[in-house]
Amino acid sequence: MSLTERPQLFIGGRWVDSKGGRKVDVHNPATGAYVGSTVLASTADIDAAVASARASFNSGVWANTPPEERAAVLHRAADLLEERAPELAKLITSELGCPIWFSERAHVPNPIRHLRYYGTLAKDFAYDERRSDGTNTSLVTQVPVGVVAAITPWNGPLSTPSLKVAPALAAGCSVILKPPPETPLTAYNLADALSQAGLPDGVLNIVPADREEGAYLVSHPDVDKVAFTGSSAAGKKIMAACAERIARVTLELGGKSAAIILDDADVDTVVPALLPMAFMVNGQACIAQTRLLVPRSRKDEFIDAFAQAVAAQRVGDPIDPATQIGPMVSRRQQERVEGYIATGRQEGARVVVGGERPSLPSELAGGWFVAPTLLAEVHNSMRVAQEEIFGPVLAVIEYDGDDEAVAIANDSVYGLSGSVWSSDEERALAIARRMRTGMVSINGRPQAANSPFGGFKQSGIGREMGPEGFHAYLETMSIAVGS
Ligand code: NAD
Repeated sequence: MSLTERPQLFIGGRWVDSKGGRKVDVHNPATGAYVGSTVLASTADIDAAVASARASFNSGVWANTPPEERAAVLHRAADLLEERAPELAKLITSELGCPIWFSERAHVPNPIRHLRYYGTLAKDFAYDERRSDGTNTSLVTQVPVGVVAAITPWNGPLSTPSLKVAPALAAGCSVILKPPPETPLTAYNLADALSQAGLPDGVLNIVPADREEGAYLVSHPDVDKVAFTGSSAAGKKIMAACAERIARVTLELGGKSAAIILDDADVDTVVPALLPMAFMVNGQACIAQTRLLVPRSRKDEFIDAFAQAVAAQRVGDPIDPATQIGPMVSRRQQERVEGYIATGRQEGARVVVGGERPSLPSELAGGWFVAPTLLAEVHNSMRVAQEEIFGPVLAVIEYDGDDEAVAIANDSVYGLSGSVWSSDEERALAIARRMRTGMVSINGRPQAANSPFGGFKQSGIGREMGPEGFHAYLETMSIAVGS
């Protein structure tokens, strides 16, 4: 099966023709070159995918499979994806435009790790526990939540689907995965690998679709749980749709994360470590550290250092291993980011570096590029400090004293990620504990792969990764078994 020509949908364990869906071509956002094509599902296709997931769940063909056998399927699928790793990295970079080094080091290995992690967890998990109060005894047991609709955005074409599909399948659920129109091709590799690994027909269904069909899917009465990653705006609508029938829901939404640089931080250490965390996926990452909180007493030193480093970023074709910043995923996204830079100027921010389209070779003239941009003199009440830009645009915000730094960091409707930078680890940890956010890095350290991922406030509900990400696909039952 071609990785790029996918004229059908994956429903019921087979590739089937769409019933009235729309063909969509995928173009490389850096060059405009044709990448491949697929079809976007219609509501009739969504009905078929849900019916297939429901039938497979009700039959018990997967839910009643012993956890060791479920684990073996997930591990085999991970091995199969690993065999395809180089092609997958190229496909992700062609669809999304993120630098190839990041596809190779994160977008491809992380999903493989998720499959293995949840396979092992499913095998070792204690599903049953007997509890007694001295008079009565109950069997407290964990069972799969049922039929899961997984809705994913374009910025993690394989990793975000796998963060839902791996724990859901490990728990014994059946899944309908709806990837977005911008990057519809990559997620099909989960279908290839899992069906070849022995997943029964109908347990995983993949139907890329537009948001209207996504809305239809989350409202479907036969869907027991929705697992969504995307914007907070869509998350609110999805939560409301789930409320109608009390469907379970987990939401991984937007962010506007603060990097608190304390007054004892070493500028030469902070700037090169922080920049990749701010410009991840060309700035289109929910956990991007985009608010740079610098002590007023050292602002010139930090602004100069960030300005030099931002100006030195290599913007270009993301397939080139030397490229640090590629294009935005689409024209719409490019226009959105440029609109925010204009808003920042109107609000009184100073564009220190960037702010326009970069000059690039002619073969990249049709790409959706935005120059990496540093804004200074930003106040936290400005829209560029409060709203998610989702592009390579950083805002420097000055503060006086640790308390004000924490107050500014927490003055956001979001609370997904954050970081603290200091030469004193204990001091940094004390500040991290005061941040109202789901994940904090001290001095740029990465999180452990089994730590939970998710946000406070309007950044979401629930957690992915780790055991928490497995619990999200289980229901708890109490069975009174005796006295
Ligand atoms: P989006 O919300 O527009 O779309 C995300 C997905 O939801 C797409 O598949 C889309 O088709 C679908 N969708 C949109 N509206 C829907 C609705 N009403 N019902 C059902 N499905 C619907 O987001 P986007 O622009 O594609 O992605 C960027 C956003 O995703 C950013 O806000 C970013 O922060 C967020 N994100 C969050 C995380 C996280 O883990 N917290 C990770 C990556 C991206």
